[in-house]
Amino acid sequence: MEYKPTIGLEIHAELKTRTKMFCDSLNDADEKKANKNVCPVCLGQPGALPTINKEAIKHVIRVGLALGGKINPVTKFDRKNYFYPDLPKGYQISQYDQPLVIGGNLLGVRLRRIHLEEDTGTLVHAGESSLVDFNRGGVPLMELVTEPDITSAEQAAEFGKELQLILRYLGVSDADMEKGHMRLEANVSLNMGTKVELKNINSFRAMKDAVTYELARQEELLRAGKKVSQETRGWDEANQKTVSQRSKEEAHDYRYFPEPDLPPFSTEIFEPEFLARELPELPQAKRTRFAKEYDLEAKQVELLVSEPAFASYFEEAASELKAQLPATRYSLLANYLLSDVRGMLGEQPLKDSKLNPEHLAHLVFLLNQSKITSRQAKDMLAKMLEKDADPETILKDESQYAISDTGELEKIVGEIVEETPQAVADYKKGKAQSLQFLIGKAMGRLKGRGNPEILKKLILEALSK
Ligand code: ADP
Ligand code: MG
Repeated sequence: MEYKPTIGLEIHAELKTRTKMFCDSLNDADEKKANKNVCPVCLGQPGALPTINKEAIKHVIRVGLALGGKINPVTKFDRKNYFYPDLPKGYQISQYDQPLVIGGNLLGVRLRRIHLEEDTGTLVHAGESSLVDFNRGGVPLMELVTEPDITSAEQAAEFGKELQLILRYLGVSDADMEKGHMRLEANVSLNMGTKVELKNINSFRAMKDAVTYELARQEELLRAGKKVSQETRGWDEANQKTVSQRSKEEAHDYRYFPEPDLPPFSTEIFEPEFLARELPELPQAKRTRFAKEYDLEAKQVELLVSEPAFASYFEEAASELKAQLPATRYSLLANYLLSDVRGMLGEQPLKDSKLNPEHLAHLVFLLNQSKITSRQAKDMLAKMLEKDADPETILKDESQYAISDTGELEKIVGEIVEETPQAVADYKKGKAQSLQFLIGKAMGRLKGRGNPEILKKLILEALSK
């Protein structure tokens, strides 16, 4: 019997808004002081009334539109009741039967719904006791649920990555997994049998590993004639396995009912058609356009698309390069940007560097015209990241700084010619590389400070003697 994986995902993302979902406390994920951004509404004090954050609604509508979902004409909020110390009201305001977005599709996986709810506080465990911080309590949280269309662990991780990229393109969430802005849960079964819900997945890598482990575990059970029990399992990163957390019998009955303080409302007031027209270019469209417009390698396209700051920088530099060079070499430009510049920047964001796109384009132009060597280009690039300078200016400065004193250079050339008779003889026999060897030797002795043009001239003179 063949066991076909059937996987459905539930993904939460904290939305980027100035204030929280139902009150005007600040939504600031970087706030270090515990319980600073709180008020009677998000602390669930009796009589406090929620009001809807319109920006959060618009964000979810943007996501729905980007993913081809249907914006529900009428939507509403519901109370999801359960007790936990990070939930001061004893219920979470969520959406039950009339979510903001219905359907949609991403990478061939059908979406069931996207709805909006509020995040909980965070528990900080300190020895025997636990502390609670409500800064995150009430922060707008989007939940996206897929149909069980995913058929492999890799595909599950790919889906998560692509969604993360789209959320960032739309500017609706930082979607940082490490900071908990984006949280993944996977429902895993074989042939749509009994499903196991996987939690505590903190990276795309963990998603792949956890689902892979779980699929194997389930297959082994079934092959041994045993049953998979319906439960929630957590991913144990240290031991690389899933462990049972909660069985179906312990499942909650949330007693959903409509939030009485927030009546149903029409989404028309948020003008979805207008929001649709305002959507930015999305990753898939950018991939297609970059491949076509710049004739780049697939890997370069992927790197650029996954780092929007580099993509727009690349486009600026490319348009400069186009003005300078008729036969454009975009992949050379992409290479310098994606390997050299990226490597030299390290953790520093591109926008904080001194390198401007026009200068980078100019460097690639000089390289393409063989005005500079690739070794020189790398050295110059390092300088260009430090100060806002055109490569031509750097070249001029260097030639001033370089030793151009003919007497001094002649002395070194004389020494080298004398010390390496073999290279001199080879050159005279027609071995052209020997010239490069001699220049290299002389440069070495000059600690790279010799004026290359004068040096070459002097060596040629010495060789013709
Ligand atoms: P529940 O009622 O247990 O919450 P839902 O029907 O609401 O289950 O589905 C929750 C998630 O589980 C969705 O992402 C859905 O695609 C997925 N799912 C549902 N049934 C299965 C199954 N048999 N195998 C894998 N995933 C499933
Ligand atoms: Mg459910």
